[in-house]
Amino acid sequence: MAWDFETEPEFQEKLDWMDGFVRDEVEPMDLVWNDSDDAFDTKNEQTRRAIAPLQEEVQKRGLWACHMGPHLGGKGYGQLKLALMNEILGRSSWAPRVFGCQAPDSGNAEILAHYGTEEQKEKYLEPLLKGEIMSCYSMTEPQAGSDPREFKCAAFKSGDEWVIQGEKWFSSNAKLAEFLIVMAVTDFDVPIHQGASMFLVPRDTPGVKFIRNVGLAGEKSGEGTHGYIHYDNVRLPEENLLGGPGQAFTIAQTRLGGGRVHHAMRTVGQVRKAFDMMCERALSRRTQGTVLAQKQSIQNDIAHSFIEIEQFRLLVLKTAWVIDRGDKQEARKYIAAVKVQTPKILQDVVGRALHIHGSLGASNEMPLARMWMLAPVMGIVDGPTEVHRVTVAKQVLKDYQPHEGLFPSMHLPPRIEAAREKFADILELEVGNL
Ligand SMILES: Cc1cc2nc3c(=O)[nH]c(=O)nc-3n(C[C@H](O)[C@H](O)[C@H](O)COP(=O)(O)OP(=O)(O)OC[C@H]3O[C@@H](n4cnc5c(N)ncnc54)[C@H](O)[C@@H]3O)c2cc1C
Repeated sequence: MAWDFETEPEFQEKLDWMDGFVRDEVEPMDLVWNDSDDAFDTKNEQTRRAIAPLQEEVQKRGLWACHMGPHLGGKGYGQLKLALMNEILGRSSWAPRVFGCQAPDSGNAEILAHYGTEEQKEKYLEPLLKGEIMSCYSMTEPQAGSDPREFKCAAFKSGDEWVIQGEKWFSSNAKLAEFLIVMAVTDFDVPIHQGASMFLVPRDTPGVKFIRNVGLAGEKSGEGTHGYIHYDNVRLPEENLLGGPGQAFTIAQTRLGGGRVHHAMRTVGQVRKAFDMMCERALSRRTQGTVLAQKQSIQNDIAHSFIEIEQFRLLVLKTAWVIDRGDKQEARKYIAAVKVQTPKILQDVVGRALHIHGSLGASNEMPLARMWMLAPVMGIVDGPTEVHRVTVAKQVLKDYQPHEGLFPSMHLPPRIEAAREKFADILELEVGNL
């Protein structure tokens, strides 16, 4: 019997240390540098100075890049342990960087570890793992995101080189990255899942042209970090094809599944933080003769939020457990399910916390409005909610048989008969009188 909601004491000690460290040392960084692109740049001298001693401390504790295998300096922790760690890291936009597991670098590191040559690993993977450089994953195109069958960006062979021609859109961190991992179609005659390939593109390769950098709502125009890029006859040596031709989607799965579930794990931390603020506000703000906590509608908000966070957290932990057990089909269903719930919980819990704070909640003196904007964004990033709902439904339906006949209810009478026969003795029925 192993249904247990406790963490082994040895690991709990690590979590407790992380909890205090993130609260006391890392979260203050959010209050000073927020999460602006320039601050995140590994070349930014100020933030580098602030973050370096924290990263050192994490490394000393053996908690750096824990998602990576031991041969790459990580712990190779399973997803369940990572879930418990990530829900602590979710409280701060700086924490993943301090612990060496920020997206998209974490996923890109896994790709390089699996598919890079020794030389590529030395040049890009090692500094990436040390947090010295940043990287970018460049897949979405201006005319197509969730449906890759519409992808047009192509790569073709010219002598012993590959040449990439096409556009990519919303390539996060492109302007800060040392290299980009680019998906391009190498064979238009087969279905896209067999015809797309993955390339390692150093950012300074001739032909990598930025059309512009797109920001999210709230960021200043022209200051965003999501690159709209024209790969204009970008020439690459043969070895920059990662894996084999046509393997892009197999490679993409190395990072996307993990990426989605890690976002969900960190969302647990974010909504808990919003919930803490909601409770503190409810207990301290007085209006119309009582503190907010004594108003029934506020109690409803707090109860709903508590229940929804607990439900979401259990789903995330179960997903992590399913991944660790190695059943890929089952994991696909659960990863898609948490992906669907991630924007929903942010919208609901952070929305309530913001509302309870009134004008202060809407202001830029609290993080709530900014956190709330994450809800619609999380419903799009890594594929829109609708697409993941389809995945859940398809996986669920695999376990069912179609009913014969048009109306399932037509089967009810025979089922009732069978059930009555089963209990015939108790019901004291004669066979024939069923
Ligand atoms: C903050 C952020 C960071 C990102 N970072 C990266 C990155 O680093 N690299 C990268 O390559 N991409 C990145 N993206 C792009 C992201 O992966 C795409 O935005 C996403 O896949 C959706 O594609 P799209 O924007 O083209 O929307 P579309 O595919 O056009 O979808 C738009 C809408 O159409 C509807 N829709 C789509 N499919 C269906 C369906 N099957 N059924 C019903 N309705 C449907 C949904 O409402 C959906 O929201 C990022 C996006 C965001 C917002």
